[in-house]
Amino acid sequence: MMGTESDSAERAFYDQLVSHGLIHPLGVQGVFGRGAVFEDVLERFNRRVSYTAANDGAEAMHFPPVIPRALFEKSGFLNSFPHLAGTIFSFEGNDTRHRAMLERVAAGQDWSEFQTMTDLTLTSAACYPLYPTCGGTLPEKGRLVDLSSYCFRHEPSQDPARMQMFRMRELVHMGTPDMVIAWRQRWIARGVELLRSLGLPVDAVPASDPFFGRVGKMLAANQKDQKLKFEVVVPITSTENPTAIMSFNYHQDHFATKFGIHSANGEVAHTACLGFGMERIVMALFKTHGFVPAHWPAPVREKLWS
Ligand code: ATP
Ligand code: ZN
Repeated sequence: MMGTESDSAERAFYDQLVSHGLIHPLGVQGVFGRGAVFEDVLERFNRRVSYTAANDGAEAMHFPPVIPRALFEKSGFLNSFPHLAGTIFSFEGNDTRHRAMLERVAAGQDWSEFQTMTDLTLTSAACYPLYPTCGGTLPEKGRLVDLSSYCFRHEPSQDPARMQMFRMRELVHMGTPDMVIAWRQRWIARGVELLRSLGLPVDAVPASDPFFGRVGKMLAANQKDQKLKFEVVVPITSTENPTAIMSFNYHQDHFATKFGIHSANGEVAHTACLGFGMERIVMALFKTHGFVPAHWPAPVREKLWS
């Protein structure tokens, strides 16, 4: 089969990131090491976000990149995205089973039957571990939480911007519908301004999630109609299909109903989150301004290096 133009653009960009020492391949699509310069840019952008959000009074919370399987099951992720989920399995057998497993491994054969599902799954979005900790009544002004996590999604791709493990920084707002809708609206403008101030030619567009299966097509159309999801997109490996580097999701009462979160007025709360795709933003900066940060335009350097 002939590769398409975007295929070769993806490969070319990947190779350039590698040859500049920005990423280090590990042999599986969507998983690679990050070099010092890549990490430096990522951390500087992270600080820029903190600076932008400094006066919002967000509480920071930190979770490891795994969540209890029971919470994952309750969240509904498996209904919508079974194809993206990652479940953790481990060995629980005896010496005989251990030997049998090693034989299979040595023979290069399938050894999955020796693995048992554990109580953990990998985190697929930074905000998932938050909701179960928020059951009860929110303060009058709602709650704003700042979270970062490595996230896993089983979507192997040769596009360097579509990873299986990537970092997401999220802000989550919980409160009355009016509060969270206004918050999200304000942040769409803020996000676009922040990214444009770094010279990125971004646009905010209505979007939908990659829901699974036939029902998923309907869910995606509905999500778009109701404007529940917006993305900020920018060309990285394609101008026709720009990449989402930031997303704004309005969950309505989905998580609040499941996890018993109420507004101060006693009604079921609504929640919304915004997520920065950290590696994608760094890659967009390299794509737009070149692979050597010392040569980036002065106004961009001022924002990140001051
Ligand atoms: P896409 O439409 O590209 O699949 P998404 O709609 O699945 O993205 P969200 O679930 O809203 O994305 O995730 C929040 C942010 O995380 C996205 O805006 C994006 O920047 C980043 N992101 C999502 N999937 C990936 C991935 N596979 N690799 C790297 N970053 C990702
Ligand atoms: Zn995705």
